[in-house]
Amino acid sequence: MTELLHNHLGGRWKQGFGPGHALHDPVLGHELVRVDATGLDLEQGFAYARQQGGSALRALSYRERAALLGAIAKLLQARRADYDAIATANSGTVAADSAVDIDGAIYTVGYYAKLGEALAGHRHLSDGEPARLAKDPLFQAQHVLLPTRGLALFINAFNFPAWGLWEKAAPALLSGVPVVVKPATATAWLTQRMVKDVIDAGILPSGALSVVCGSPDGLLDALEPFDVLSFTGSAATAGAIRAHGAVARRSVRANIEADSINSALLLEGEAPGSAAFELLVKEVVREMTVKSGQKCTAIRRVFVPQALYAAAAEAIGARLGRITVGNPRSEGVRMGALVNRAQLDAARRGLAVLGAQAECLHDGARHALVDADPAVACCLGPTLLGTRDAAGSDAADRVHDTEVFGPVATLVPYRNAAHAEALVRRGEGSLALSLYGSDAAALAHTALELADAHGRVHVVSPDVGALHTGHGNVMPQSLHGGPGRAGGGEELGGLRALNFYHRRSAIQASTAVLAALQPA
Ligand code: NAP
Repeated sequence: MTELLHNHLGGRWKQGFGPGHALHDPVLGHELVRVDATGLDLEQGFAYARQQGGSALRALSYRERAALLGAIAKLLQARRADYDAIATANSGTVAADSAVDIDGAIYTVGYYAKLGEALAGHRHLSDGEPARLAKDPLFQAQHVLLPTRGLALFINAFNFPAWGLWEKAAPALLSGVPVVVKPATATAWLTQRMVKDVIDAGILPSGALSVVCGSPDGLLDALEPFDVLSFTGSAATAGAIRAHGAVARRSVRANIEADSINSALLLEGEAPGSAAFELLVKEVVREMTVKSGQKCTAIRRVFVPQALYAAAAEAIGARLGRITVGNPRSEGVRMGALVNRAQLDAARRGLAVLGAQAECLHDGARHALVDADPAVACCLGPTLLGTRDAAGSDAADRVHDTEVFGPVATLVPYRNAAHAEALVRRGEGSLALSLYGSDAAALAHTALELADAHGRVHVVSPDVGALHTGHGNVMPQSLHGGPGRAGGGEELGGLRALNFYHRRSAIQASTAVLAALQPA
């Protein structure tokens, strides 16, 4: 029997009472560890987090909490090799792809540690300037932001067990709000290990950080009105969460990050082989293959002028042909596995759905696996589909509503700028859109035309070709989240992330009282 991982709740390490759910190596197939949360007293554990963890965190200033984040970043950096080994075994990712998750996590914690230092010794935040309420300026309103006195529950997706925890926990802890994380079962090990390391190091007050692994019954039932819930995962689960009584009736504030059919758009006027054309090709291939396409921000739809369809298909296909797929431990392998057989089967089903309305431009089945048994390893070669011509782009629906969570993208030709924008909008709201071109005015115009439907617009012109941070890379400085089918959530974006963990209130009083409120 493999190890049954402990949960940390109510300030103590506890095993579930069930046999546990096994986590597997998606390349070699063997069992790694087990997780279970059966029989945990969630109500008592959540109460402990609110009362003990919350009070202890709120007693500290922003700067003091930022120092805790600094210590966490240092610790995670020191243990990085352990996390890399877990990611290789449990996520089947090559080192560079594991780094996106692990180093992304450490960078984000360090970033919020620095931001928090600047908030100094304050225990609440002012929101804007006082506003006059009456003719006499003596009586005014000042908005203030106070950390919520509940807990922050994170229900996370399998694809970012490290970053998914810390991109949420860093702003929550900096705000003074205790965290309970429920990682996705498939990859809970890395999240659990990071939490364990931080708890064992004694960096945080008791109750400030808890982890519940597996799928406990009644998780959302234990939430109370001042708690907040941050969910990342599929649109289907998001729907169940939105309908839960905690959210629907008890006003638990919920942030939802869900599926997204992200786009890359090459503007008109760029020749095949031009700098902008090549930047698009490179980025599409990177997005399709990093983490085997298991990124919520990955490019799924690639829009090019109709005249460039064949050239783009050829250039992308040529680069995809050089991607080696297989055992992430083998030298030279560029792309590892999907996370498990269920995801592999789901990706294959999705490919069939998309393929019914598209032609295959590069077939992933052509990639022989390196050092991996195709009967065991959950590997999938990168596949490029295409809708053939502009009429085909109009007729195809599935490309705009089917997220294949794997190394798959579809090339979609367009007639003119208005047609391209209309096609992009058929995604009904996405996390990220990237634009490629060399005409600054046209890029700016298109960015503003489409920004309302995207949490982030990433503009790649030749002058930033070597500098830009990548279509799919989520930087803590920028907003992450998207409207419509992307869930309507907002995360990160520097200090904006703290809003979710604070309550805003307007204090109406004399200027003398308002002056006494100022953060000291
Ligand atoms: P999922 O199946 O929806 O699961 C997400 C999380 O919800 C897991 O922790 C899961 O736990 C939990 N869960 C499932 N049913 C639940 C319920 N009824 N009540 C409470 N929790 C429940 O998604 P996934 O397969 O892990 O992740 C892939 C999806 O996430 C993709 O669609 C991707 O686009 C999306 N994603 C979005 C973002 C973003 O920022 N927008 C980021 C990453 C991923 P168990 O694992 O124990 O079932």
